[in-house]
Amino acid sequence: SVISNHMPTAELQALDAAHHMHPFTSNEALANKGARVITRADGVYLTDSDGNRILDGMAGLWCVNIGYGRTEMADAAARQMKELPYYNTFFMTTHVPAIALAQEVAKLAPADMNQIFFASSGSEANDTNIRLVRTYWAQKGKPGKSHIISRKNAYHGSSVGSGSLGGMTYMHEQGGMPIPGIHHINQPDWWSEGGDMTPEEFGVACAKELEAKILELGEDKVAAFIAEPVQGAGGVIVPPETYWPEIQRICDEYEILLIADEVICGFGRLGAWFGSEVMGIKPHIMTIAKGLSSGYQPIGGSIVCDEVAEVIGQTEFNHGYTYSGHPVAAAVALENLRIMQEENLIEHVRTAAAPALKAGLETLADHPLVGEVSIKGMMASLALTPHKDSRAKFASERGTIGTICRDRAFANNLVMRHVGDRMVVSPPLIIQQEDIDALVERAGKALDEAY
Ligand code: PLP
Repeated sequence: SVISNHMPTAELQALDAAHHMHPFTSNEALANKGARVITRADGVYLTDSDGNRILDGMAGLWCVNIGYGRTEMADAAARQMKELPYYNTFFMTTHVPAIALAQEVAKLAPADMNQIFFASSGSEANDTNIRLVRTYWAQKGKPGKSHIISRKNAYHGSSVGSGSLGGMTYMHEQGGMPIPGIHHINQPDWWSEGGDMTPEEFGVACAKELEAKILELGEDKVAAFIAEPVQGAGGVIVPPETYWPEIQRICDEYEILLIADEVICGFGRLGAWFGSEVMGIKPHIMTIAKGLSSGYQPIGGSIVCDEVAEVIGQTEFNHGYTYSGHPVAAAVALENLRIMQEENLIEHVRTAAAPALKAGLETLADHPLVGEVSIKGMMASLALTPHKDSRAKFASERGTIGTICRDRAFANNLVMRHVGDRMVVSPPLIIQQEDIDALVERAGKALDEAY
């Protein structure tokens, strides 16, 4: 029979478990329990195959910034698909959607960042970055400057290159990562790891680990440092205010390229076009994806500063993806940026949505399970603890309590994610007060039920 939304849920789940390998999921779990089947979505709500309306507190995977169901986006895709569904940008060809999107992104980016290399995802863009920074130094006559420093618990993608940049040990344990030449220093997670230090002291201490690693490897061996302005998939780790200025000083002093991975933080999530603006970072390269198209089409890329672009441009950069600058994805991303500007979405985040989310989530700070409410713009997490006052952790490393809370939230028709013992929210940027209230209420209910 033809598979459709009208099939009974159990049948869809059985077919799914039989044929579909999911990311970050065991097929055994799928066979035992069955995945929730999402059939449609509108605004900040998903609908499942049993007709439940689920508040999407994660904007898909931190990406559906303008919310679901925008017909303008479908129209933009259809128009472009009829006119030019595909052409590449290899070998001296180009097309209007790629030109227009590159120009628009350059306009939004810092003044000295005017070149964009397109990919279809954040993972591909970060793979591009590994090659960009190494090629830059090779072109400058310093091929030995090839090592890249990243952070533990960072997430930069799932391909072998980007997964190696990432600092998730449970990913490294499978399939031969990290590749050589990539090193990880500690993350600035004061609540979990700050010990007796003040957040300010801890921020400087974490940043100084970068300096120590550069000195250990040798200044002439280090190409770049990569980091998310605010670590997202690692659990929304907001660094102390002292952290980024010290990182910036170290990168400047030792001539290390700074890559800001803006895949989550970019395009409004922190209340500005880029998280780097908010955190006071001056990057050489920014990784983008997700909010660039609000997830309506797969597209990502690297925004490259003029100096690096000029050096790379002196040679043929032997790198590219069949779908680099894909015309339909580019047209859809362009429409997304138009909508964001027309609706003043960044202003909405800054003046309404982010303050409301903060106020709402902070009402959960007194809950006996909540140790810390960590929030920056429209990304937040609740650190769960068995003893509030001592910043103690639950015994299990990968967060049984987190799984329970996530499942309770889902049962209450709220999508929250858990990262270890942190419960994460990152809703569509269009969210209004009423839905923020519902989000907080359902999250509180999930905590109560898990307690
Ligand atoms: N970089 C960051 C900061 C991310 O959060 C992600 C995905 O969550 C990626 C890169 C990888 O992007 P993608 O899943 O599009 O490959």
